[in-house]
Amino acid sequence: MDQSENIDAVTIEELPSCVGQRVKIQGWVYNQRGSRTLTFLIVRDGTGIVQCVGNKEELDDDTWAQIQQLTQESSVSVIGTVSADDRQEGGVEVAIESFRLIALAEEYPITKKEHGIEFLMNNRHLWLRSRRTWAVLRIRNRVVMAIHEFFQSQGFIQLDSPIFTANAVEGTTTLFGTEFFGETAYLTQSGQLHGEAMAMAFGKIYTFGPTFRAEKSKTRRHLSEFWMIEPEMAFYDLDMDMALSEQFLAHVVGAVLSECSEELRVLGRDTAVLERVSPPFPRISYSEAVEILRSKETAQMVSEKLVELDTEAAALKIELVDGKRAHGQAKKGEKRRLDRRFAEINQRLGEIEEDQRNYPSWAESAANFEWGGDFGGSDETLLTWHYERPLIVHRFPAAIKAFYMKRDPDDDRVALGMDVLAPEGYGEIIGGGERATDLAFLKSQLAHHGLSEAAFDWYLDLRRYGSVPHAGFGLGLERIVAWICNLHHIREAIPFPRLMGRLTP
Ligand code: ATP
Ligand code: MN
Repeated sequence: MDQSENIDAVTIEELPSCVGQRVKIQGWVYNQRGSRTLTFLIVRDGTGIVQCVGNKEELDDDTWAQIQQLTQESSVSVIGTVSADDRQEGGVEVAIESFRLIALAEEYPITKKEHGIEFLMNNRHLWLRSRRTWAVLRIRNRVVMAIHEFFQSQGFIQLDSPIFTANAVEGTTTLFGTEFFGETAYLTQSGQLHGEAMAMAFGKIYTFGPTFRAEKSKTRRHLSEFWMIEPEMAFYDLDMDMALSEQFLAHVVGAVLSECSEELRVLGRDTAVLERVSPPFPRISYSEAVEILRSKETAQMVSEKLVELDTEAAALKIELVDGKRAHGQAKKGEKRRLDRRFAEINQRLGEIEEDQRNYPSWAESAANFEWGGDFGGSDETLLTWHYERPLIVHRFPAAIKAFYMKRDPDDDRVALGMDVLAPEGYGEIIGGGERATDLAFLKSQLAHHGLSEAAFDWYLDLRRYGSVPHAGFGLGLERIVAWICNLHHIREAIPFPRLMGRLTP
């Protein structure tokens, strides 16, 4: 049987529906083990992973010899018969009848052993092939589809805002400057202002595009380049805006839950919190949030979390010691499993240490929080600990918000903005609100923020020609993916992250 025979290749994902059939699969060697007479080739093709079994007796010598020399990530093509096997991933196994080596891989830099994050990020172009990345980025894809499904089914039109922009919306410190035929230009930090123009033309629109922020801070939740989804709706007020964000998140999370169970399993994601994402979410004002931050309950909660961390760390350390002891006598397969587990434990211990260092100062700054300040990442984290579902915070001090926000008619100190904070400490994933509609007010705001009226004249036109109440919000794609996947750092939520100190690969 040679590989030139006319048999269509199927993907590994399709194998469960091919039980009993002869198929051809094409992919890369993920792993291999075997004995003198049997070989177990674990092949991945991007859609899944399958075990292919080769029997020395049934294969010609040449093929057998070739299989013995395979290296991790060599590309191969396999023809064989599919059988059901509950013990295997995907519930199937392939009995190898013929095999072809496409390209033998050099020694692959990423092994099953532990690697530091810098090393993995330097090899991101290869790291993409790992199981974990597979799960995260497939969930990202599902989230993108769910976003389009939701808005398209609700009568929204998808239209994009420009990436080269002429003026800064919120100060130039967070902008990447560039040159545009001799003029100074900036990479967009938000498509909102153009989104408003499009909403006045089409009613309900959403943009979906890359966004750039030059913040020189290294946090777990900031990228220099990320993807933002910004719906903007004519005739919407703040309440409608909040209600839309709830339905929207419920749809996106629901789609991932119902269609990405394998990916969530690979990530070891506890889905209980995701299952609670249904409207309405708790809604509190900024002022109420400040009270919560300063409360005894918050201080108490931090102490409890510290105790939980201690307990978790102690248990992991015991597991590590026991595992190391067992490692000596373990068989090869078990050794590999233990090595993987050691890597996981060490990573988690690192995270725990970081948290143990941070929590006390978080508690202190929360206890001393003054009305009027902007919430830091840690404040948002503490707030979300009080709730088991996403939390909406609304009505922020106008002074810390952008010039275009509408003031609360009942309290001029606050603006009609809202943030949606993801639970489990993730913090802001959505920021939005109702926009100011009054021309004179906007002119005074531009002056107050030191922004040139001439640069925003086109934007002011939206208030000159049929100004209407309107609202919108922005969702950071990587922020929601990081939360759904329970990632420690946002850099894993995008194929090739760009952040301070990271421009390649
Ligand atoms: P933060 O306070 O967390 O820095 P922000 O308030 O500056 O965020 P907005 O201007 O409200 O962010 O942007 C809307 C959304 O875009 C945020 O809710 C978040 O999901 C996402 N986002 C903002 N900045 C970043 C970033 N640097 N990296 C990834 N996502 C971001
Ligand atoms: Mn925001």
